[in-house]
Amino acid sequence: EAKSRGPNNYILFEPEMQAKVARRAKLEGELRRAIDQDRLAVHYQPLVDLRTGDVCGFEALARWTNEDGEQVPPNVFIPLAEETGLITLLFQQLLRQACEAAKSWSDEMVLSFNLSPVQMEDRMLPARILDILGKAGLPPQRLEIEITENALIADPALAEQIMQSLNAAGIQIALDDFGTGYSNLSQLARFRFDKIKIDKSFVATCGKDERSEKIIQAMLSLSRSLHARTTVEGVEDYGQLAHFVSHGCDIGQGYFFGKPIPAEEVPGFLRRRERVLSTA
Ligand code: C2E
Ligand code: MG
Ligand code: MG
Ligand code: MG
Repeated sequence: EAKSRGPNNYILFEPEMQAKVARRAKLEGELRRAIDQDRLAVHYQPLVDLRTGDVCGFEALARWTNEDGEQVPPNVFIPLAEETGLITLLFQQLLRQACEAAKSWSDEMVLSFNLSPVQMEDRMLPARILDILGKAGLPPQRLEIEITENALIADPALAEQIMQSLNAAGIQIALDDFGTGYSNLSQLARFRFDKIKIDKSFVATCGKDERSEKIIQAMLSLSRSLHARTTVEGVEDYGQLAHFVSHGCDIGQGYFFGKPIPAEEVPGFLRRRERVLSTA
């Protein structure tokens, strides 16, 4: 029967394919239920002002433990949510959660939240975000939205419009994973960013060879000439930190400062940090 429908249908009946389709369908069902039951969590990773050493905010990172008790990485369930249209629900649920958490932090701390590229095709996005902020009572100035270069490709005019609305409301915009995406620099110039986040793949290569060194310097200088602050992602040791500090990078993020933690661990993390800094 399958064979009679031609080669394309036949492919679907290959056992490996079939298993893959079944796994995906199961995961999609589980993700739907997890969203329905509000079982997704947000963890928070510190962002550190490299001039003062102060924690200037946290990046919200989605976490999901499935029904078998396994941690499903965001790099798996976020693309699934994008493909199935669940991303808007997931986003709203997690942003609500994160706003509640951020309200208990000090007023200077920003909540940085990732957007999926497909969300930049949603005209209602600024209204959705402002509605959540309003209900949570979190000032728009406390929110920063992270988008990747890929978010600007599908509909650049709409992306620009959305970014302008967010900016007009006082929400900050960061360009995430800079240097790994589309990188059409002439296109990038039409968008305004408050922050540019240098991808962690560049940290791994820093100080190793002259060529990657030059690229890092070029990214930092581009960021500066666009009047954006620069964040370095994925700092894992002191050497990497010293390197980016010497290049005038503004903000650091990475395991060296702290891993993503649940909301309830944030106050303790900040207290411990205070103690360490005051005895240093
Ligand atoms: P991202 O936005 O670039 O987030 C940074 C990722 O690097 C996080 O991975 C974080 O845990 C990891 N990281 C931070 N410091 C270090 C370090 O020092 N070393 C190493 N090796 N890794 C570090 P995570 O949490 O697995 O998230 C992966 C990606 O999934 C994120 O990359 C983001 O693109 C996406 N994501 C996570 N949460 C959300 C969300 O709520 N919405 C959307 N749309 N995307 C999300
Ligand atoms: Mg991010
Ligand atoms: Mg990133
Ligand atoms: Mg990333």
